[in-house]
Amino acid sequence: MSGELSVENLSVHYGGVCAVRSIGFTVAAGQSVGVIGANGAGKTSSLRALMGLVPRSSGSIRFDGKDLSRARARDMVRHGIGYVPEGRHVFGGLTVEKNLLLGAYTEPWKGRTRKTLGEVYETFPVLGEMRGRLAGALSGGQQQMLAIGRALMSRPRLLLLDEPSMGLSPKLVDDILRVLLGLREQGLSLLLVEQNAKLTFEVAADCLVMENGEVAMTGRSDELRKDVRVRRIYLGL
Ligand code: ATP
Repeated sequence: MSGELSVENLSVHYGGVCAVRSIGFTVAAGQSVGVIGANGAGKTSSLRALMGLVPRSSGSIRFDGKDLSRARARDMVRHGIGYVPEGRHVFGGLTVEKNLLLGAYTEPWKGRTRKTLGEVYETFPVLGEMRGRLAGALSGGQQQMLAIGRALMSRPRLLLLDEPSMGLSPKLVDDILRVLLGLREQGLSLLLVEQNAKLTFEVAADCLVMENGEVAMTGRSDELRKDVRVRRIYLGL
């Protein structure tokens, strides 16, 4: 059992406004699950609440047999959950390597950090080539790789990704797709939140569709991509 997540009854309120209403789902070990939905559907709030970055008004979170319902972000990382935030949030004034090393802040053992750094450079050769450059000088696609690489530095068993394709050209979205498929191949569990349904269906075998803070539909991606409503609203077909 590794990288298995189960979420029940997760809700988020901002003041009196309900942004996420009692959602639930599971990510089996080594599996990929997608969450699609329009702007404002509650995807980011769900991920941030899961990570402990905004208060959960209710919810049970179990990860690899542990109850993390009350865990905060640092504990989530320590327990093996990595997080790639929406908008990347790399530190533009620091080098690529310094950004990556910041991702290893929960790692006590320097030797292992060096080894993980080497693995991240193997996964993203471009980051190795640019390790001494300031992150702010990288292109959008490279910054997205850096944000993913930084999350990998804590050696997660589950990676949460918030709109990794945002603002990227179709060619760069293809690069991100290849990266995500590679991570899946390595056995990492993935929870991918996206407005880009096409990308999500390629990466995740199962998907949730969020609307107005609720799970409106769930199913296998190959079934959902045939659904008339999904095709019209989320695939623009
Ligand atoms: P996006 O694709 O824009 O990231 P989303 O599906 O991730 O959208 P959320 O960002 O989670 O949706 O927003 C869900 C709802 O909560 C929206 O109505 C949004 O306006 C509201 N909301 C989000 N953050 C806050 C906040 N900090 N304070 C108050 N309301 C918020």
